[in-house]
Order: sequence, then C-alpha cells, then structure tokens
Amino acid sequence: MKAAVVHGKNDIRIEEYPTPSAAAGEMVVKIKASGICATDIKTLLGQGLPKELPTILGHEVVGEVHELGVGISGFAVGDRVAVYPIAVCGDCYYCRRGRHNLCENEFGLGHGIEGGFAEYVRLPKQIVAAGGVVKIPASLSFERAVISEPLSCGVAALRANRVQPEDTVLIVGAGPMGLIHLKVNKWAGARVIISDLLPQRLDVAAAMGADHCINVAEQDLKTAVKELTGGAGAEVVITSLGIPKVIEESLMLVRNGGTFNIFGGPPAGQPISVDPRWLHYCEINLTGSFAATPDEFRKSLELIASGEIVVDDLISDRFTLDSMLDAVERAKNQEMIRGIVLF
Ligand SMILES: [Zn+2]
Ligand SMILES: [Zn+2]
Repeated sequence: MKAAVVHGKNDIRIEEYPTPSAAAGEMVVKIKASGICATDIKTLLGQGLPKELPTILGHEVVGEVHELGVGISGFAVGDRVAVYPIAVCGDCYYCRRGRHNLCENEFGLGHGIEGGFAEYVRLPKQIVAAGGVVKIPASLSFERAVISEPLSCGVAALRANRVQPEDTVLIVGAGPMGLIHLKVNKWAGARVIISDLLPQRLDVAAAMGADHCINVAEQDLKTAVKELTGGAGAEVVITSLGIPKVIEESLMLVRNGGTFNIFGGPPAGQPISVDPRWLHYCEINLTGSFAATPDEFRKSLELIASGEIVVDDLISDRFTLDSMLDAVERAKNQEMIRGIVLF
C-alpha cells in the first residue's frame, strides 16, 4: 500500500509500505478519510516521536471494513466505520471505571501501532473489543464522520468542566481544537468568549457563533474578560494551546467556584506556579482533559450524524496522500483550521 511514512524527526516520505492483514480479533479498514491533528505535527517534529521507526502517524480515521479477523461478529466487509483510536485493556483500574482514556496499558493509532496516513490500517483486538469501531449511518459522509475523533475530545472536556447552560466559557486559543471547544460549548448552551493572536482565526470563530472574540494582539485579555463578566471571570476557562506562560496568566480569568481546564499539551519540563490559597479559598477546580472515552466518541459521532453540531466549517483543506507533505507544511505554519486527507 501507499503510506506517509515517518523515518525520523521532521522526516516524512510518501512510499510503499507492507499492507496489513487481520489476525484473530482484529480488523483491517480501507481508509476513506484521515484527519490531520496538531498532535501529529508535534509528534513529527519530535515531541513524543516513537522509538521504533519507521512508523505511520494519524489517529483520526474513517473507512470501510476490508478484512475481519477470526472471531469478529456484527460487522461485514464493506461496512462504513469510524475508529476510536486508543487500544485499551478493558481490565485496569481506569478501564473498569469507564476512564478508558487513562488506561494503564494503552497504545494506539499513530503511537505504538501504524496509524491512518495510509491506504489501510490494522485495528488491534483491544480497539475492536472496546467497541471502538462504530458504524457510520448511510446518510453521513466520511468527510463529516472523520471529525468525530477531535470532536470527542471536546465532548470529554465538557464532562470534565461540568458546563451548565448559560455559563460563560472562556477559550484561550482559537486553533483547530479551540474552535471545536467553541462548537461543543455553544451546543451545551454556554456563552463563549474566545481569544487568539491571529485575526483570521477570530473571524472564523465569530462566524461559528462565538459570543465575544478577543484579539490579544490589540486588547488585554484580563481587562476584556473582566469587563464581559462583571469583574468576576468566567465559570470555565479552557486553555487550548501548549504555552505554559499563557496558561499561567489565564489562571486569574476563572471566577470563584469555577473550573480551569488545561487542554493543549505543553512541552515537558515547563511547570507553572499556582497559589494554593487561591485554590482553597476560591474553590477552584483545576483540571485537564485528554482524549476521550469510547462512549464520548460514539456520542460525538451521533452529534454530527444528527446535525446537532455542524462540522463542515471546521474542514478548511483537503489533501490526497500524495499531497500530504504540503499538508504538513501548512499545518506547521498554522495555515489550516483542519486538514483532512481523502482517499
Ligand atoms: Zn487528534
Ligand atoms: Zn485499561
């Protein structure tokens, strides 16, 4: 098969790669669309690059069942499916409590096993057995369905943040995931303030229904948020970027009793400082959210299929596997909202 193969840091090549086959309990999916995530670009640039190379990145995958391993029922070759990308053991402390995204034995597409920037992908039995292969309704296009994975991370953050209708939610960073948080929180009935340095991103956020857009190149974020919240701050603050200094400066924007969610993964070795008196006396819920559970993944696919959350405007660029290297360049330069590779 043809694949975008990673040989090392910032070294990705379009080349032939062995086509996978399905052992017992496994499945092979013929990929129809793969999403390009900021995580893929961070990994390619060396943050969390697997030791065993070459490898194939990509964890946002939809396609058609191509081969079924022995022992799989309920699926037929040709079924249209979306894939939850984390292989979970189902048996550890976290899996038994429904917190599969924290599984002690997890690995997944693009980290540990070959991912979705290829014509075919092998799904290990842990993904299949966890209900991670979800049929796509006939009415739903692959293009829309491939947004289910990133959307599920927004749905997971909604759970962590305990958002109530009419809460004010501040999203710091209007990149690809910041815009997904915007969509999910608007769906939940919140009032959304979103900030970024790039005016073109804020224009997109405004078109997607953000209540207030703050350009931090022109306005002081703290002053603007205090003005918009009667001096109190937002019930929920989500930092959707990996810059520790900005995360630290945003802490003071959450109101007493509110939730502060560190969403974007910062680089290692850059701690921030937090005043424990503030956490205590103001009852701040300081949290993070990472990936999603299989339930949240299925929920997000339903939200797209039902039209409750419109995702078309999240897709800014379409590529083929052959033009994947252009996609990587555009993603590195922050020129896309979301790029997808269509097969
Ligand atoms: Zn992703
Ligand atoms: Zn587990």
